[in-house]
Amino acid sequence: MNRYPRSHIKIAFFLASVLAVVITTLPAKEKDVARFPILLEVEVTPEITEPAIETEDYESQWTELSIAPGDNLSKIFKRLGLPAANLQEIVDIGPEVAGLRRILPGKELGIRVSHEGKLIGLRYSPNVLNTLVVQRKNDTFEAQKIRLNTEYITAYQTATIDKEAPSLYLAGKRAGLSDNIIMQLSYVFQWDISFALDMRQGDSFALLYEEIYANGKKLKDGEILAASFSNMGKAHTAVRYKGPGGRTDYYTPDGLSLRKAFIRDPVHFSHVSSRFNLRRLHPIHKRVMPHRGIDYAANRGTPVIAAGDGKVSIARQNNASGKYVVLQHGQQYTTKYLHLSRFAKGIRTGTAVRQGQTIGYVGSTGWATAPHLHFEFLVSGVHRNPYTVKLPKADPIPANDISDFRNKTSGLLIQLAAIQGKTGYARLETPEDAGASE
Ligand SMILES: [Zn+2]
Repeated sequence: MNRYPRSHIKIAFFLASVLAVVITTLPAKEKDVARFPILLEVEVTPEITEPAIETEDYESQWTELSIAPGDNLSKIFKRLGLPAANLQEIVDIGPEVAGLRRILPGKELGIRVSHEGKLIGLRYSPNVLNTLVVQRKNDTFEAQKIRLNTEYITAYQTATIDKEAPSLYLAGKRAGLSDNIIMQLSYVFQWDISFALDMRQGDSFALLYEEIYANGKKLKDGEILAASFSNMGKAHTAVRYKGPGGRTDYYTPDGLSLRKAFIRDPVHFSHVSSRFNLRRLHPIHKRVMPHRGIDYAANRGTPVIAAGDGKVSIARQNNASGKYVVLQHGQQYTTKYLHLSRFAKGIRTGTAVRQGQTIGYVGSTGWATAPHLHFEFLVSGVHRNPYTVKLPKADPIPANDISDFRNKTSGLLIQLAAIQGKTGYARLETPEDAGASE
């Protein structure tokens, strides 16, 4: 039985949490990531408004406190011996300071106290881009919101899957990409490529993505703008497009949606431990029994997502399947998810689910030798191999919007083609590098 490497298990957990976390650390090899100024889309943010304070030792008067779990401002004021009346005055400023009611553990709170011990300022940054500054003005307090002036830079990178880096994650890390960008890439192509099953040596990818800077310093990665993935000899290309309706999605260069009715892998960052095989020797029963699904080995607790929009028709437990969920997708399609450690919150018979929604967590309940998801895909009641069955596609760009689509995406696609060309050229110049990555 294959065990998933420990590092990957940690990564799976980290990646799941990264969705919610906005701030990412700099990639380890940031200098290797190539950049050029963005050509198409620049998001303009309001100018910085500096707080109206000119004192020379302005910064030295601030004390930064780290907010502890369970902290709130009244506890902190008490601890520092600051009058509760001051806090009341600050709260009374109004909705501008509403953010101070739910200060987050781990963030910093700045307190500025005069030589006489009087509170003269308070500041809080809920994220890297925004700071709320409250300052005493005579006998009252005033609030100011400061937003960093950000700049979007387009970065690009190419990478190849090979013996040393046999997975999307490892190839991406070697190329200096952040976990956030690697995860985004897996989501862009999740309808067409199984990153759990389909990775081959020689597969390669190229991508353009945003990096967000403020004051010349990189804050975090933005979104993937365009990407191509050459997988088992087949090239897939995706470009990001924001339609007139404001909805952002990824499309092929012809404006076809990459989105399909079903996602290939209902567990991200797992690996396939047993394929769809109608003549498999069963690992527990030691005889030939059809394996009418796909097994994804992953750490216990890894989220299992709905492969498509649908309704929960069964969410219960039995001896063989353990805790399992059956989803009905319209009249024709059914998907099954077995051996869960637990159901996700709110998942019970009759619950409507959206594609990508977490329905449960990987476990080993029922007849299972190790934590994995057993996934089945049925068309009109017949088990089918989810990797080979033809899947219905989402709607393409409407005819009315196709010229807008071309205007906004052609530049990105040219840049994408250019960086792929560049990779080939660089290889010609350094044959030893080309040899190393084959
Ligand atoms: Zn199975």
